[in-house]
Amino acid sequence: MKILVTGGAGFVGVNLCKRLLSEGAKVTCLDNFYTSSEKNLEILRGDSFEFVKHDLIDPLPESILSGEFDQIYHLACPASPPHYQKDHIYTLKVNFIGALNILELAKEQGAKILYTSTSEVYGDPEVSPQNEEYRGSVNPHGIRSCYDEGKRAGESLFMNYFRQYDLGVRIVRIFNTYGPYMDRDDGRAVSNFIVQALESKDITIYGDGTQTRSFQYIDDLLEGMIRFMNSEDNFPGPVNIGNPHEITIKELADTVISLTGAKSQLKFSELPKDDPLQRRPDISLAKDKFDWEPKVGLEEGLKKTIEYFT
Ligand code: UDP
Repeated sequence: MKILVTGGAGFVGVNLCKRLLSEGAKVTCLDNFYTSSEKNLEILRGDSFEFVKHDLIDPLPESILSGEFDQIYHLACPASPPHYQKDHIYTLKVNFIGALNILELAKEQGAKILYTSTSEVYGDPEVSPQNEEYRGSVNPHGIRSCYDEGKRAGESLFMNYFRQYDLGVRIVRIFNTYGPYMDRDDGRAVSNFIVQALESKDITIYGDGTQTRSFQYIDDLLEGMIRFMNSEDNFPGPVNIGNPHEITIKELADTVISLTGAKSQLKFSELPKDDPLQRRPDISLAKDKFDWEPKVGLEEGLKKTIEYFT
């Protein structure tokens, strides 16, 4: 089995490449290190692994065009709010031009392709939990729109390649995910809080900390993505992949402090604009379609992540 992972040097990508290699696949990782680091690739060396440095908004190089891939996992996109807001236009380009380039490759090669969309497509939701039927409440011109509208355009592209060309498409909507190989400077709540606690610094809470998220451990996400990719059913999704255990951001901070034994204090500052107040997946569709549900509890997953950062 030959598999291409775009964005393979990032947090989810490295973990996915590692797992696919352990299952005997030949893996090609494509990345431009826009938000990831070459250092992450150290764990992926071996005869079955190949790396191609490339920016997906440019025409694909010959080594990829001649790759004969069976499956493509399309992950490439800056994903944390500080990273995707560094260059809004670039984020939009990756989400549309990058997706178009990789879809054309999948069409040429007859490869199955999985698109990593996001819970951000639900925006600041008026319903909870969010199921796949819910169309979301997104600010189309807000500061997060390069990412959430970008991903919505991506979903439309993937669905239309499925409809128009009968391409083997799978769309997952990933809810907040954490685990080893997150970047220390990613800017996300889990990585920020762990790094701050380990350095006995103040824990930076945006807003009053009553906004909620549902955090899933990386291994659960990978299991869901791989099951969906390999499902026989030609069902394109979208399918939510997340852990329905919903907590406030203040509860997350308190849990990290207690697990690390840190003396850190909570430091509150303004909530960024358009920051969703709640988020929790309805995962019945994933259960029904490919018998998936998360297995790793928050404390267990946080302990493994703290160990990685220590
Ligand atoms: N957040 C926070 N402090 C931080 C980083 C994030 O309070 O140092 C908040 C952020 O405003 C949001 C929540 O934690 O309400 C989750 O943020 P994250 O960036 O992890 O994910 P996303 O906003 O994409 O769900």
